[in-house]
Amino acid sequence: MNDLSVASFNHDFILKLFNLNSHDIESFHIRHQDNRVVVALKLVVKTHPCPVCLYETTKIKGYTLKRINHSILHTMACQIEYRARRYQCPLCQKTFYEHNPFTLEGMRTSLATVFNVLKDLKSETETFSSVAKRHHLSVTTVSNYFDQYVHIEPGPLSSILCIDEVYAFKSKNSQYVCVLLDYISHRVIDLLPSRRKEDLIRYLSQIDRNKRLEVKIVSIDMWETYRQITKSYFPKALCAVDKFHVLQEFSRAMNRVRVDAMNQVKNQKDKPDPNASPAEKEQWYLNDQQYYVFKKFNWLLFKTPDYENLDINVPKKFNRKLNRYMNFYDLLQVMLKASKPLREAYQLKQALYQFYQSEQPTKDQLTQLIQLFKNSNLKVMNKFSDTLANWKKEILHSFIQVPIDGRMVRVNNALIENRNKTIKTIKRNSNGFTHWNRFRNRCLYVLNDDATFSLYPKKKKDHSSQNK
Ligand SMILES: [Zn+2]
Repeated sequence: MNDLSVASFNHDFILKLFNLNSHDIESFHIRHQDNRVVVALKLVVKTHPCPVCLYETTKIKGYTLKRINHSILHTMACQIEYRARRYQCPLCQKTFYEHNPFTLEGMRTSLATVFNVLKDLKSETETFSSVAKRHHLSVTTVSNYFDQYVHIEPGPLSSILCIDEVYAFKSKNSQYVCVLLDYISHRVIDLLPSRRKEDLIRYLSQIDRNKRLEVKIVSIDMWETYRQITKSYFPKALCAVDKFHVLQEFSRAMNRVRVDAMNQVKNQKDKPDPNASPAEKEQWYLNDQQYYVFKKFNWLLFKTPDYENLDINVPKKFNRKLNRYMNFYDLLQVMLKASKPLREAYQLKQALYQFYQSEQPTKDQLTQLIQLFKNSNLKVMNKFSDTLANWKKEILHSFIQVPIDGRMVRVNNALIENRNKTIKTIKRNSNGFTHWNRFRNRCLYVLNDDATFSLYPKKKKDHSSQNK
């Protein structure tokens, strides 16, 4: 198939099959058979140039009956029963098929159907099975067409690059898909089947060094390999650690303190001991209430400080269990009162968020913050202090503002998190992708609005090429 013969397809013509121009049709009739619509047709005789010597001829050699799946009716399968004419060149004797507007040689599905299949697969919620069912095709057929027509080349690098991973595709070596995103255009540049160092090196070393030198900022999560990779492969870039991931790491530490606090107030018995002293009984009821608040409202501990419902002045509602009027602020205070470690953790949280609210914090401010965590009585918070110290430079880099669409913004990986949701949806709906290339192509095809299918199928050999 070359571009010339692709161009000779009249696209509209294919897509409006039942509006076929009458002067193109020698015979055309429709019948119902075995629960489907069969359209039997023959095209008119036209002068065709011989593909070898270009001599123009109308000499007919014979006919071959072709059955082509043509799923334009969703309620019923449809088949074109096409009497394909062969011509013979009177000069060189070469025989050849006439041009037809339905399909390519050797294909048993009409191009209109293939294009509809590919269009449907653009949506993240569609699966090969759902599309196959709609178009009355087998799942294998649909996935084969996808493989033949969809090959998404890696996009160009960006001066601002985000690297992150998503737990989505399980391969022999890795359970993570590594996502490269262009922060400026919002395009996903590429997906890699692993975040392992050797795999990243293999990939990045294939990219032209001059292009890599144009990368100015690389925003990453706190995966050490990414930092090393940035240093070696994007030597002109500043490595920034995404704020969201730092806060997430803190939340994990905070959650451990929360679990301990909750266990502290948990009563061992579901009723106070009848022989217990009044003070012990009172304690039992207090614990019971606190445990209830932890159970139901622990999410308040993890809200950002600007969460408006946590305002002290929000109107109170009657709480039956606690037998008084309360708002979220009050409920939070119940938890903080119940545990000294939790109070401490919560103060550290305030300090961390305050740090992130500054316009451009100094190195000293970060050092102070690290010290605050280091001095904590809580082991998990001391550990978090180590994390902050380990990523000091990268944390400060994350405050750098860059101009995007006429605004100054800080680089972060929030966009990638959003893309990761789509990747997970594709994965979840897919019933297990086993071919990496197919999974990669499907994700990139769905993720990037401008990603499209080719107008003609590629042979299997053509699409092993990756990232030049
Ligand atoms: Zn010829």
